Amino acid sequence: MTSLERTLTVINSGIPDRVPVALHNFLMASRMAGFGLRECLAKGELLAEAQLVAWRRFGHDVMLVENGTTAMAQALGCEVVFGDEVAPRIAVPVLKTLEDVEKLVVPDPNTTYPLCEVIKAVKILRRELGEQVFIMGRSDQAPMALAAALRGHGTFWMDLGENEKPELIAKLLDFCVETTTRYALALRDAGAHGTCIGEVGSDVVSPAMYRKLVLPRLQRFFAATGPAFPSAVHQCGDTTAVLPEMVASGARILELDPKTDMHKAKQETQGKTTILGMVDPANVLHRGTPALVAQKSREALEILAPGGGFLIGPGCALVPETPEENVEALIETAHRYGDYRADGTLE
Ligand SMILES: [Zn+2]
Repeated sequence: MTSLERTLTVINSGIPDRVPVALHNFLMASRMAGFGLRECLAKGELLAEAQLVAWRRFGHDVMLVENGTTAMAQALGCEVVFGDEVAPRIAVPVLKTLEDVEKLVVPDPNTTYPLCEVIKAVKILRRELGEQVFIMGRSDQAPMALAAALRGHGTFWMDLGENEKPELIAKLLDFCVETTTRYALALRDAGAHGTCIGEVGSDVVSPAMYRKLVLPRLQRFFAATGPAFPSAVHQCGDTTAVLPEMVASGARILELDPKTDMHKAKQETQGKTTILGMVDPANVLHRGTPALVAQKSREALEILAPGGGFLIGPGCALVPETPEENVEALIETAHRYGDYRADGTLE
């Protein structure tokens, strides 16, 4: 099986030859390629080259292409600060008032910076790699996370708490679904095999608010991207409390942070959707030893792999300084202990 076939088999509820490995490594890849982050994340050619350098080294099955969590916010007019050591962050949000939502215009991803650079990277990677690897062209933030970025996190949570203008909040969230969907479809047209959006989880909003404001919009996004373009949702932190809602969103993949309960995640998703994760990118892959990575990866395989529906990898972005030998240990463990029998048990 090629990496692409192996990954699609899992997403389509089949049993592949072994558990595929997915690397959320755009920051680390930039460092491995010798590029400064500021320069790399701004140019599609460098984003693609960094991914290729990392892929030639690790041979992973799923490639996660993005330039951080601020691409759409920047495209919509937020002021974004880039550094050489850390991921970009928003310095000045674009929405001074909720009423400003009326001024927002859905950008054309193919011509609006920096979305067009991520699209360029996906095109280059698809041209270079063809049907070998599953290329996940990530369409940045999900509706609630994007709305918070556009308005400023603290301010947006206050807007929600005060709830004086629910119709403007709804309008903003609906606008965010529309922009993100358009970006996702542009990435698909550029050659991505799938996409992912990052949403806030249940350690940021209550499960009740998640059900009311987040879930219906995630459902619209996943209905629009459709079954032929497998799409994922990622939520940082502990999202155990909204696992059933994440499954109900229609996401084909849940990219889960290791703070989420692994056993509950398996229980909730078995036979319904696929988990991507859940090896700790900070405490294990960054700060741990290869032996600890092997132990934790094996643990993840034993709990999450039986019956399929699992892509092993870090459940969130790897930091630039992640030791290469730790990523190698993850890959080796997947190759050594991640082979399937036809009945879906591990060999
Ligand atoms: Zn995360």
